[in-house]
Amino acid sequence: MSKSLQRVRGTQDLLPEISRKFRHIENLAWSQARHYGYGEIETPLFEATEVFHRTLGETSDMVHKETYTFQDRGGDSLTLRPEGTAGIARAFISEGLAQKLPLKFFYSGSMFRYERPQKGRYRQFHQVGVECLGYDHPLSDVEVILLAADFLKDLNLLSSCQLQLNTLGDPTSRQQYRDKLVEYFSRFKNDLSADSQMRLEKNPLRILDSKDPGDRKLIVDCPQMQDSLTTESLQFFEKVQQGLQKNNVPFELTSTLVRGIDYYTHTVFEFVTDQLGAQGTVLAGGRYDGLIQSMGGPQTPGVGWAAGLERLAELTAESLIPTTPLKAALIPADEAGELWALQVAHELRVQGHTVEILWNGNVGKKMKKAASLSAEYALIVGTTEAQTQTVTAKNLATGEQKTGPLAQVLV
Ligand code: ATP
Ligand code: MG
Repeated sequence: MSKSLQRVRGTQDLLPEISRKFRHIENLAWSQARHYGYGEIETPLFEATEVFHRTLGETSDMVHKETYTFQDRGGDSLTLRPEGTAGIARAFISEGLAQKLPLKFFYSGSMFRYERPQKGRYRQFHQVGVECLGYDHPLSDVEVILLAADFLKDLNLLSSCQLQLNTLGDPTSRQQYRDKLVEYFSRFKNDLSADSQMRLEKNPLRILDSKDPGDRKLIVDCPQMQDSLTTESLQFFEKVQQGLQKNNVPFELTSTLVRGIDYYTHTVFEFVTDQLGAQGTVLAGGRYDGLIQSMGGPQTPGVGWAAGLERLAELTAESLIPTTPLKAALIPADEAGELWALQVAHELRVQGHTVEILWNGNVGKKMKKAASLSAEYALIVGTTEAQTQTVTAKNLATGEQKTGPLAQVLV
């Protein structure tokens, strides 16, 4: 096969087996989000490049190394969305939604990042996520985390995930911490990875997010955010912790958790599992009070999270996905039976049943197929049945067989 006919590296063909899982996970997320009062939003798959450069920060890996950016035929620079929040913030501003606050949005869709493909890491992947705009109350952070926990519980994954929690404080706290980090890491500048040397100048907090083993050794003894927090930021963080405790959501304080994106303030969190190797974060989020203003909109607090469907699907057992039972497999015995089969199948489908018509092979083969599909009934229809408007129904569990009008032989 010529290369151009193969899947592009890092992309996936989601065949029905896996789509089924994705859809199930998506439905659970959406159903929980509805309970929490969220409405669904769908923003474009691509935005003006600026939308991401301004919001995610020029120094974030995502913008610096991971975006798919291209010029369209009109000469505009566009970027495929690498995440959901920036586009929603853009929509909030361009749709003039400030009058309607507070707003709670749920989304689901593809994201694009030019990363090294590996298990749990793709170049086109899928996220479900929520954004809660207009509340600066610390307990609204807790509410958003509870939504995540309820969703993971529905997936049977909550007990195998750990909630890691940290705060980045307000801008004052962050600046103080930044200065301390620069002082500390500058002492080891030559030992830092090339990426982190660059981060040291542009965004030292992001060094804490480095996956480089050498960097990680230096991070162990670095200054802690806790020691740079203003009184207000500390109180905010304590309230978040209190809210989680009251609701019996266990968490671990993780001082190195900073998240890959520049716009977070106060609460940041991740649900992490040890069952996926290096790609252990399944759901991640935080508060981003400065984001909308930094894009030129009104100062608007926000908090949200996103979860990767590929990683959640990997953890979800096939047996947990509900299947649609097959009520009947239609087995035409001859040509007249084929036309009648189509009518019978349609009638059953209109009644709400799932039905399969078996077009290929002789009756024996079709019977085997019906059994392998776990149909409740095999409905054999030939010339006689067509003429009398009946079906010959075989209950595949009991082996019992009856001929008669559909309503009489099917229960
Ligand atoms: P990582 O540290 O694993 O690169 P991240 O901090 O870049 O994650 P976020 O931007 O917070 O991830 O995205 C939220 C979630 O989306 C992640 O926890 C993960 O489940 C999923 N995710 C992120 N990038 C990818 C990817 N390239 N392929 C598949 N899932 C991804
Ligand atoms: Mg990443």
